[in-house]
Amino acid sequence: MEFTNALIQGDLEAVRRCPKADLHNHFVLGGSREFLREHSGKDIQPIKKPIHSMNEMHTWTSQNLGDYFETAEGRRMLIRATFSQAKKDGVSILEIGEDVWGLGEFFHGNIEELVAAFETAHQEIAPDIELQLQIGLSRHCDISYLEDCLSHFWGCKAFYSIDLYGDELAQPIEKFKSIYRRAKSEGLKLKAHVGEWGTADDVRHAVECLELDEVQHGIAAAEDPSVIRFLADNHIRLNITPSSNYLLGRVRDLVESM
Ligand SMILES: [Zn+2]
Repeated sequence: MEFTNALIQGDLEAVRRCPKADLHNHFVLGGSREFLREHSGKDIQPIKKPIHSMNEMHTWTSQNLGDYFETAEGRRMLIRATFSQAKKDGVSILEIGEDVWGLGEFFHGNIEELVAAFETAHQEIAPDIELQLQIGLSRHCDISYLEDCLSHFWGCKAFYSIDLYGDELAQPIEKFKSIYRRAKSEGLKLKAHVGEWGTADDVRHAVECLELDEVQHGIAAAEDPSVIRFLADNHIRLNITPSSNYLLGRVRDLVESM
């Protein structure tokens, strides 16, 4: 109730005071710009008006972040910036993690080092937040490449969930079935980005095919009441990101996004 009132009144400070979960945060782009300016001197400008494609988003990312943070230390700074923003926003549960390719790139292929990077930042910046650590996959990657990467992650009890993101239209969802069966047997929560660029049917199909517990975005489901019914009947939560949906031009305005 307090949260709803704060939203209606547009009272950002009151919104921040309400405890809340952030279950859809790609930490590389989820950090505090203020924290990054203070610690790196880099002044990252926000996206102010809607862009229209993932390609435009990638262009923005390369222009504004470039490879500046693509070092072991830079990656850790982005993780700390994310905890800093979450703390400021009054987040009590934060679900973030690393893309599987990052393990070799930033953590010497050492899974304990990767987990420790998140845990250290967590304890240093926001120990009161509950961290749910995620394994991330990019949809355009070869399945055999992903399976190779994942072999280092399987069996590590520090992880809570697995998510699939990137270009939703890159390859059919069926290709990820074996990975998701394994992830389920590992006890991970199963999530994937669908219905951001795809259709309502894509949402239903992905949930059935991968046995998803949660869908990231899933906003296209709103186009088909039977898909909404299916999601409700199966208790599938959509982790919608209203401001992202607006800034990526998926909805006309924030009211439609909610
Ligand atoms: Zn996302």
